[in-house]
Amino acid sequence: MTTPPQVPDDAQLLELAREAATKAYIPYSTFPVGAALLTASGEVVQGCNVENASYGLTICAERTATTRMIVSSDGPDDADARRIVKVAIVGLKASPCFPCGACRQVLHEFGCQSVIVEEDGAPRAYPFAEILPHGFGPADLENPEG
Ligand SMILES: [Zn+2]
Repeated sequence: MTTPPQVPDDAQLLELAREAATKAYIPYSTFPVGAALLTASGEVVQGCNVENASYGLTICAERTATTRMIVSSDGPDDADARRIVKVAIVGLKASPCFPCGACRQVLHEFGCQSVIVEEDGAPRAYPFAEILPHGFGPADLENPEG
């Protein structure tokens, strides 16, 4: 008999995002952001922002976590490990810290249902439909004739 993995609550997920933010590579903005996403398989994947001298190649914490999630899975058949249930985001210099537009689109691609931010020192969960109303995603390509 195996013990199921401990699934973190929203406060714990925020702490994991905060921990990730301390690792950010941010020589230009000095604006550290961390993300911790929970997959449908119960895994937690952390990400931090990683900047670049070209500026435009900077990647946000939410997207580094998402790409880490994909490479950490066992491949395309490992669907639950490639599906995001929720993501917690912490900006060490901004609270609450919501995902940018690009990250909202990427999180939507992998089914994210909820975004957790810190408001007045406490976790607050936003339904993803409020974060990205009328989002365009994989399902929109499955029935092109509507
Ligand atoms: Zn972003």
